[in-house]
Amino acid sequence: MDRMRTLFDSVAADGVTDADRIKARIASSGIDIADLRLHTTMERLAEWGDRPIDFEKFSEIVGPELRMINRSFQRQLVIPDWEEFCSDIETIYSNVAPNRSGRNADYIPILRDADPERWGVAVCTVDGQRMRLGDVDIFHSIQSVSKPLNYAHALVREGADFIHRFVGTEPSGRPFNALDMLPDMRPFNPCVNAGAIMIAGIIASGSPDRDARQITQDVMDLWSRLCGGIDEVRYSEETMLSERATAHTNFAIAYLLQGRTGLPRDVDLHKMLDLYLACCSIEMTTEMLAVAAATLANGGICPITGEEVLPTEVVKKTLAVMQSAGMYDNAGSFTLEVGLPAKSGVAGAVLVVVPNLMGFATFSPRLDEYGNSVRGVAFCRELVDRFTFHIYDNLSGGHTGCKRDPRASQHEQKERDLSELRWAVSYGDRYATKVRDLMLNCMIDVCLADGDIKEDEITTISATYAEIMGQPTSRQELDHWIDSRRGQHNGGESPNTGQDQTSFAQLLEILASERSSLDDNGREVILESAFRVACSDGSIEDEEGVKLRAIARSLGISEGVLELEIARFQRRLAQR
Ligand code: GLU
Repeated sequence: MDRMRTLFDSVAADGVTDADRIKARIASSGIDIADLRLHTTMERLAEWGDRPIDFEKFSEIVGPELRMINRSFQRQLVIPDWEEFCSDIETIYSNVAPNRSGRNADYIPILRDADPERWGVAVCTVDGQRMRLGDVDIFHSIQSVSKPLNYAHALVREGADFIHRFVGTEPSGRPFNALDMLPDMRPFNPCVNAGAIMIAGIIASGSPDRDARQITQDVMDLWSRLCGGIDEVRYSEETMLSERATAHTNFAIAYLLQGRTGLPRDVDLHKMLDLYLACCSIEMTTEMLAVAAATLANGGICPITGEEVLPTEVVKKTLAVMQSAGMYDNAGSFTLEVGLPAKSGVAGAVLVVVPNLMGFATFSPRLDEYGNSVRGVAFCRELVDRFTFHIYDNLSGGHTGCKRDPRASQHEQKERDLSELRWAVSYGDRYATKVRDLMLNCMIDVCLADGDIKEDEITTISATYAEIMGQPTSRQELDHWIDSRRGQHNGGESPNTGQDQTSFAQLLEILASERSSLDDNGREVILESAFRVACSDGSIEDEEGVKLRAIARSLGISEGVLELEIARFQRRLAQR
């Protein structure tokens, strides 16, 4: 009963709560109130209306879905601090919005005439936390985003051995519609047109009695389950007809496949092509694609329905192919920079998977020279610049450039690291003492940015030190540090300005030389302390901003991470 009481108390005042408060609490954890896992709760709340809810009633209403309610209320979802994470994503979304480079695909009218200004980002975590920004409700053809899912569908039906007799697994480095094949005449992989057309042939060959449109319906059903049925998967006949009318290269590829490789089970070439083009003409929204991506991130189990849509083995193969070939002939650079399995389509969608954490999708029709959405790729780059989502971010031995990791487990790890640092400092540990010293120097130098250090600044340094280190420092010790920094500042070539840059430059040099010996936690503590001191008067002056950026750079912390910090600070100010 006690735990139920805790849950109740967290949404109650004066012994009662109501439906609105319960829903707001759920929504703030990232769970949509229409989520199927809370269906009964919502039904009961609707029945009860806006009457007050006491403890008894509350227990009765949430009982059948208590585990889900508990996880949501207690912030035990994969991204516990959901609102903070959403704000960070909004910052990146806005950063990317002004980018108007690139052009719509123009080979068919429906893509050429699409509004190029559209810009949407949707996220869904493996726990089904969802966010949406901008144009996430627009239905558009999924185009090449269909390719990895057709591959997955074929894997389920025919198995890898059969498929890979006809299609390779090598990145091609060639444009998506190139006629090139592997030396053994198989198409390079399931994500280039030749491979995707062959995959369509494999799927079509397995259903000799059904026409292409009927088989497309199977694929649409798969998409529908992948996206948890949050909306209806559509099909655009208009897109299909235009595609077919302009598919000269795809016809050439199909004939080449027939002539060189041979088609699976001698499937009809037109049926094969029709299925390929029809799958490109499936229409979905960005939000639907994000949930589908989350299902892949979750090993094939849809986070919001709990249904096993694809076997994990199939998802592993699908993600591997996306990783090596999903972003057209830019897939290599994309893997280098972003390091995530992704697939883009020429309508402007990009579907991205952060394994075990979340899926997301972006939509913006202007494409770069490779056929990838310009804003979509820019968003991915900025995201990975700020968060530890690159697949190899986890091997850096504590050196990610202090990127954020919103996962719950990381939260706890950070707390543990900090408490260890505090403990070690108190016994004079060499490493911990170094962090402490650099931290003090940075705080003092940020205050010296405007010439001298004022009494209230000393108070701030002392308070920040106590907060971070968990113990106070003596005034005497602090004065000693201040005097020595001041001495260095004034001992330079221009003693009277008090703003001698050489000593700050020396500090930066020290930070840079110590950087490799500091782990992410140590670096973060140093920047954080300087940051807090700079913000203490309620704003970050230009001069302070310059110093903070320089400190971040010397510590190898990405500007993007600092930018998120500044945006967070400004949000907190605005809330006051
Ligand atoms: N329907 C397009 C084609 O096959 C797909 C283009 C794409 O999204 O890559 O040419």
